[in-house]
Amino acid sequence: MTHPTGNRELIRAINRSHVLNAIKAYGPIGRADIARRTGLSPATVTSLSAKLISQNLVFEKSAGDSSGGRPPILLVINPKGGYVVGIKLTETNAVCALTDLEATVIAKASMPLSGHNPIRVVEDLAHMVTTFIREQKISKKQLLGVGVGLAGIVDANEGILRQSPIYGWDNVPLRQMLQSKLNVPIYIENDVNTLTLTERWFGPGQGVDNFLTVTVGRGVGLGIVVNGQFYRGQNGGAGELGHTTIDPKGPLCACGKHGCLEAYVGDPGLVRAANEEYERGHLSVKVETIEELLQLAQSGDTSAIKIFKKAGSILGIAIANLINLFNPKKIIISGEGTREGDYLFISMKESIQQNTMPGLFDPKIVEIIPWGDDVWARGAAGLVLRELFESPIHKQTPTAATM
Ligand SMILES: [Zn+2]
Repeated sequence: MTHPTGNRELIRAINRSHVLNAIKAYGPIGRADIARRTGLSPATVTSLSAKLISQNLVFEKSAGDSSGGRPPILLVINPKGGYVVGIKLTETNAVCALTDLEATVIAKASMPLSGHNPIRVVEDLAHMVTTFIREQKISKKQLLGVGVGLAGIVDANEGILRQSPIYGWDNVPLRQMLQSKLNVPIYIENDVNTLTLTERWFGPGQGVDNFLTVTVGRGVGLGIVVNGQFYRGQNGGAGELGHTTIDPKGPLCACGKHGCLEAYVGDPGLVRAANEEYERGHLSVKVETIEELLQLAQSGDTSAIKIFKKAGSILGIAIANLINLFNPKKIIISGEGTREGDYLFISMKESIQQNTMPGLFDPKIVEIIPWGDDVWARGAAGLVLRELFESPIHKQTPTAATM
């Protein structure tokens, strides 16, 4: 979406987003109520809601239960007024989800990538999206856009992947490359940021001005919302929680440093710790994947349980530090690591309580999102939906975006 030119057009676009958001937040809602909540005149609300209805984004619904007289007509978001596709890129796969306007996942699909060459990846993605929407009987006209989330430093404004540790890419103009193949609006963003934005618009972050999203899994990520502003840092690189140092003499991390949080809590770090226990004769089986280690813990292996418990304690210290730094209302924990459940989170919660400054701790701060394999792709879909609902006055700048 580009900035509207001219004041009248801009004001109308801002008012339109106020009306749309009032319907999203409070619908079913009557026009008079929208006028009261937004401070817009009833005539403006009537004209803008007529436009939203004609665009199929909103529909009218009779309240039905009015006691006598004409039942009031209420407005609600039409979830089927448009569709978006979200794609999460991993080292080996692309996972995509089709959602409606309420970020509800309707269908999902997964495809292995044929390599890491940017041109081949873009061809794979274009083919995947085209096949996927055809199978779901969604036309290009109904498709509002495609959001792509991936690890790395992403310039979301320019649509350029500045640096990707998993693909070894530098300055790849992914948005423009994919847009020229698919001819629909494309949005790209760091994957942890996509989750944070989607939590802000459709999840537990709704209406919360200060919250953090911590992701655990292969790595450890952080999304930061302060005073309703999404914080990216000077070059879009803020939130590298996984590479904050726990012990400079600790195990080697994928980033080349020693003793990063990720080297203790990320999947490869946990597997490495398991193999050290195996060498010492404490663990009965040599494991190669996090799934195998989790199965061992589930079967009651005390050494495997201890490995998760230790990682949880270290994660808790990192989160206590975040609470001390940001004093957030909420910390949302997401990512595939949440599958480890109590093995990780009991010790994490104890450690948060022990290490947070008294007065800042509140057990209700932490909210763990149950894992689903479409969580990341749904997050990427949220990038497109945010464009629909966000006021044009709050469009992102390189360092901060009001959401
Ligand atoms: Zn590191």
